[in-house]
Amino acid sequence: MDLKTNHAAPVLTDSAPIAQSRLHSSLLHCTTASGAAFSPNLLLTVPRKKAGLLDDVRSSSWLDAMKASSPPPKRVTKEQNNDRTSPDDSGYSNWLLKYPSALASFEQIANFARGKRIALFLDYDGTLSPIVDNPDCAFMSNDMRSAVKIVAKYFPTAIISGRSRDKVYEFVGLTELYYAGSHGMDIVSPVRESAPADHVNSIRSTCKRGKEVNLFQPASEFLPMIDEVFNSLVESTRDIKGAKVENNKFCVSVHYRNVDDKYWDAVARSVDKVIKNYPKLRLTHGRKVLEVRPVIDWDKGKAVTFLLESLGLNNCDDVLPIYIGDDRTDEDAFKVLRERRRGYGILVSSAPKESNAYYSLRDPFEVMEFLKSLVMWKKVKCSIGSEVL
Ligand SMILES: [Mg+2]
Repeated sequence: MDLKTNHAAPVLTDSAPIAQSRLHSSLLHCTTASGAAFSPNLLLTVPRKKAGLLDDVRSSSWLDAMKASSPPPKRVTKEQNNDRTSPDDSGYSNWLLKYPSALASFEQIANFARGKRIALFLDYDGTLSPIVDNPDCAFMSNDMRSAVKIVAKYFPTAIISGRSRDKVYEFVGLTELYYAGSHGMDIVSPVRESAPADHVNSIRSTCKRGKEVNLFQPASEFLPMIDEVFNSLVESTRDIKGAKVENNKFCVSVHYRNVDDKYWDAVARSVDKVIKNYPKLRLTHGRKVLEVRPVIDWDKGKAVTFLLESLGLNNCDDVLPIYIGDDRTDEDAFKVLRERRRGYGILVSSAPKESNAYYSLRDPFEVMEFLKSLVMWKKVKCSIGSEVL
């Protein structure tokens, strides 16, 4: 079962595979041979400790990466509609030829989904909620909550976020969903006797509804280290106005969206100063956020596979996973779906960028419209009873 795509398998021009990015030698080469910046969203790991100049070069490379991965600010409010850009942007229109709108292409998606069970995976920030100045205020609208609640009635739906699982549940507040926090390093999934392959770090637990669930935390051994690093980062960024450090349980985010860009260098140096002492942690870039994560072979793509296994939907020809996300870390999930040739990644972006996704949506408002379209399509199919869905 191959997906039809209107463009050749896109290659991420601004990233490096995790395995490569972990190579200290290549990291060193990138910084010293050319003096050039790391590419914008390159996964950066903590190189072995080197004194003096290397640290300066590294943190200045981070600064370049921070600038490149943080597009110019635009006005954003709680109202998702206001996060929209001009539809006559010619660059965006051209980009849509490569990553067609999932709304405009809905019929094509629906045709492919005919006779299949859709499994839905959703990022949270920038996908269900607008990106806002204060990450603690990234609330989703009531309309979006309703749309997610309804879509979860018809399709197994999971949220996979970089936030802590508790935090994202606090924002969403729906018990109908499955939640994966900390970029998939903290997953609550249904209990299945045979699945998922008895992963280590998988334990039985009880969810908020009192139901028995499977709790999977592949980075549990890092908890004390993450707490320690969180406290150190709070301390090291204390004097940088606007910097905010968020403990996401298995990873730490350093938000700099409210930091004047002339102090971004200070943010980079402060983070470097802390994590250079932790070779088991690595750094990734998001939208105006630096994220410190354990060096483990686990990401949102692996979380999708794990959840599909947990739901008994993995390796089934009649299952169509759809993943909607807006950030660099969502590319791991897009890539898994693309490589498996079994599902669609949908990138949420109002600006052109390379992606492993097949389709695009402009902003959370269009995400909501897409979710509503899925529900409407399912209802129509159910009502005419023309096929097994
Ligand atoms: Mg996001």
